[in-house]
Amino acid sequence: MPTSTTINPNNARNFSGGPGALPQSVLTQVQAAIQNVPEVGLSILGISHRSDWFAAIVQELEDTIRALLGLDNTFHVLLLQGGATQQFSMVPMSLLTGKTQLPEYLHTGYWSSKALGEARRITPLRVLWDGESARFSRLPLDEELTFSADAPYLHYISNETVEGLQFKRVLGRDDVPRVCDMSSDFLSKPCEASRFSLIYAHAQKNIGPAGVTVVIIRDELLHNMPDNLPGWLDYRSHIKAHSNYNTPPVFAIYVVLLIARWLRQEIGGLANMALINERKAALLYAALDESDGFYRGRAAKPDRSMMNVAFNLPNEHQERAFLAASRQAGFAGLAGHRAVGGVRASIYNGLELNAVAQLTEFMRDFAQKAKR
Ligand SMILES: *Cc1c(COP(=O)(O)O)cnc(C)c1O
Repeated sequence: MPTSTTINPNNARNFSGGPGALPQSVLTQVQAAIQNVPEVGLSILGISHRSDWFAAIVQELEDTIRALLGLDNTFHVLLLQGGATQQFSMVPMSLLTGKTQLPEYLHTGYWSSKALGEARRITPLRVLWDGESARFSRLPLDEELTFSADAPYLHYISNETVEGLQFKRVLGRDDVPRVCDMSSDFLSKPCEASRFSLIYAHAQKNIGPAGVTVVIIRDELLHNMPDNLPGWLDYRSHIKAHSNYNTPPVFAIYVVLLIARWLRQEIGGLANMALINERKAALLYAALDESDGFYRGRAAKPDRSMMNVAFNLPNEHQERAFLAASRQAGFAGLAGHRAVGGVRASIYNGLELNAVAQLTEFMRDFAQKAKR
């Protein structure tokens, strides 16, 4: 058993890149629901997915997501398994029909590479912009992007979780379906959702535990899909079954509902959530910028993510020392993604401003001692 002097984790200071920290008030409700859900009298782990109660949970979650994003019922809201990775395939399997032109993709980071790799198993595609030669340190400007009018769809990732790059605008043309992986910034701010044709976001970065992925799909996209898709891989099966095509992840869906209620009732909607998230990000980026180059942000300033703050120290030795000292001080999850190393502070919705203030204080302290 590790002793408390070497390991000192703390839920309130969990900067994990994913699964990410959830709000304490939600964790308290989840803890109670493991024993019994108040309205039902049963453990959340033993309630049938065919119960009326669960059907009402799914409905309330759909309605709450629609309300938070300002979407009308020309959009379907689905709760699927398979993570964002399954969507990397389901999108090209579903959206190519009838088009001879190639779908267009942006290659902006680690998760884009994964999306491209899966899409290429299904179709040739056009990479509109590639940030790999710049080591994914920035995002494209408008003048670097030429979208074609006849592409079956445009795919991009709104927030590159590993590199900490986030688009501050909606990309593409209004006459080409926009498809966006919002896994790591979904419900962190208003996002002009109705300008997209398909949005997907798994829960485990910002809005719940692993196991469920939210897919928002515009009704008109359904009319042209191939008819020979396996049942589970056909969005229409899930729409018809009200996200109950086969046994859904009841627990994960329930927790996402608790988060959605928290966003609406306790936070007061996405504009308020954005204000809080902006303040957290501003504190951290100020700590980088005021460190005289001791902490170097990975992302170009205009493209800095409000969710994932990735940075380096002068050398790997100091990075290891920083991570060890941060663990000692009760901070968790600060190691950069294994693909890029360094340090990454993920500041998802559930992480409070206070924790970020504590981290920046720790960072100033650490830098001062290291420079001496
Ligand atoms: C984490 C992440 C993924 C991978 O999601 P899985 O649910 O593990 O398949 C995909 N896209 C983005 C943007 C991510 O941050």
